[in-house]
Amino acid sequence: MQKTIALVAHDHKKPDLIKWSLVHKTELSKHKLVATGTTGGLLQKELGLAIHCFKSGPLGGDQQIGALIAEGKLDCLIFFWDPLNPAPHDPDVKALLRLCSVWNVPVACNVSTADMLMTSTAFTGEEYQREIPNL
Ligand code: PGA
Repeated sequence: MQKTIALVAHDHKKPDLIKWSLVHKTELSKHKLVATGTTGGLLQKELGLAIHCFKSGPLGGDQQIGALIAEGKLDCLIFFWDPLNPAPHDPDVKALLRLCSVWNVPVACNVSTADMLMTSTAFTGEEYQREIPNL
């Protein structure tokens, strides 16, 4: 079943996300992809896949992805945030991660977790049904 996957990486983590996306291009190509502006532009160029680009993260892109989560329209977030450099939109970063917890959305914040998520039959198969909290 086609899922909607959001891809976001802070500047120092963009090379990691590009490399990761190339490894998982076949699986990613089966799904609807969305991203923050700069990340999405780079990935489109590298992968040659269609990606819906929101605004750049610091300009509201993280919040646009958060809105998708709140509307129940996002199935997975790959978010390589940078633990070593401060971001001007840190509150938005926290808000996005918080919404993943609120709505039980799978989120991978590093390469190994993203690898496991993307290759898990819980993700690629039909059997696993993510529980959506009844809030
Ligand atoms: P960007 O935003 O893809 O526009 O760089 C990412 C982020 O900082 O959240």
